[in-house]
Amino acid sequence: MDLTYPPEADEFRAKVRTFLDANLPADWQGIGALPHEEAAAFTEQWRTVLHQNGYLALSWPKEVGGAGLTPLESVVVAEEFARAGAPTGGPNDGFGITMLGNTMLRWGTEEQKRHYLPRILSGEDRWCQGYSEPAAGSDLGNLGCRAVLDGDEWVINGQKIWTSGGHLADHIFVLARTDPTAAKHRGITFLLVDMRQPGVEVRPIRMMSGDSEFNEVFFSDARCPKENVLGEVNGGWAVAMTLLGNERGAGAAVQALGFRGELDKLTRLAKERGATSDPVIRQRLMRAHTKVEIMRFLSYKALTAFLHGHQPGADASIGKLFWSHHHQEITELAMDVLGADSLAPTGQTPQRAFGCDAPGAPNDSANWAGVFYNARAGTIYAGTSQVQKGIVGEQILGLPKEPRADSGPWNEIPGHG
Ligand SMILES: Cc1cc2nc3c(=O)[nH]c(=O)nc-3n(C[C@H](O)[C@H](O)[C@H](O)COP(=O)(O)OP(=O)(O)OC[C@H]3O[C@@H](n4cnc5c(N)ncnc54)[C@H](O)[C@@H]3O)c2cc1C
Repeated sequence: MDLTYPPEADEFRAKVRTFLDANLPADWQGIGALPHEEAAAFTEQWRTVLHQNGYLALSWPKEVGGAGLTPLESVVVAEEFARAGAPTGGPNDGFGITMLGNTMLRWGTEEQKRHYLPRILSGEDRWCQGYSEPAAGSDLGNLGCRAVLDGDEWVINGQKIWTSGGHLADHIFVLARTDPTAAKHRGITFLLVDMRQPGVEVRPIRMMSGDSEFNEVFFSDARCPKENVLGEVNGGWAVAMTLLGNERGAGAAVQALGFRGELDKLTRLAKERGATSDPVIRQRLMRAHTKVEIMRFLSYKALTAFLHGHQPGADASIGKLFWSHHHQEITELAMDVLGADSLAPTGQTPQRAFGCDAPGAPNDSANWAGVFYNARAGTIYAGTSQVQKGIVGEQILGLPKEPRADSGPWNEIPGHG
């Protein structure tokens, strides 16, 4: 672990700060401080500013329109944006830029890169992720959405679920089964599908927070051109795994900053409400402080590894387990600090469904109650805690592997065929 930044990082940091000072509004307090509609409108126009100034797609090469930054520069940008509470892109950029774009750079044909990457950057194409299905979440290889070649087109039938941002997207990358006779993880193809057609239906799912951030997506004879395959036909599993690696990305290197901001805010709330005279609350705040410090050091560890060219692997599961459980603990603590007010919350609900509280968001009961609900999902999305523990046990500790019942052809698995 290296706790110091080289001098060139400081120079670059100054440049990023100058950009932020010059372009954020004078009274800027963080994206969370804006009412929802204003925040959405600001993010939309801010995304254009980022695009014009080379702050989108930080790691993509310049030839394809990216910023061409080194890993260290990318982390410095992420840190400065996190400190300023400024968005790093639009609501679908995690799917378009971080997941699909990076995966396309590895697996795409020249033609695919030329066509799709500029459209992702300009915001013309907005993507979502069609992986999970009702019977395929942790066990993603069990997916049953089918695609059959009909002349020059794939015809897709089946269902995806928990599709975040699907209601804001016009394109979806779909894992579809194209050879049902092959073993489970083979016979899957990664398809690029335009959602603007009658065969694609998006139905919102209402969450317990009251928001409707994710969806079911139904395919009924939906079509995409034959060449809209990323990687090989029936070779989609390898592409899917590259994309999941990109989903974890270098985010771990900066996430402790967000959790620090959130804890400082809760500490202020506890003081304002006189809760810090309760020894158990004090103890829980101290425990949270210790955990945020551990996260900071885990971040430095991830950053150092990243700078040495190490891609996130099994060790990313430790960070995922750690932050998601910390987040549930701290938001439970917030509910206890709020007491009865947490049952009838007032104020502004959170802007984000994922990760920590948005910087600058009001320190009121509605915001904390919303963040509390959202934190429940943190131990499910991007791989459940049980699955992360399996990875840590098997791949880091070298414990015996769990029994697996899925080595045969896909259609021999009970319940499918
Ligand atoms: C907020 C949110 C956003 C999401 N966004 C998207 C998205 O945009 N696109 C997308 O494709 N998906 C998305 N997902 C889906 C997410 O990836 C799945 O929910 C997740 O992989 C778990 O799958 P599942 O819900 O089918 O649960 P299951 O896999 O059915 O798991 C049920 C329970 O069994 C446990 N379990 C399963 N297998 C094992 C095992 N081998 N060992 C021990 N325990 C096990 C799990 O830990 C869990 O507790 C999202 C989910 C959430 C909550």
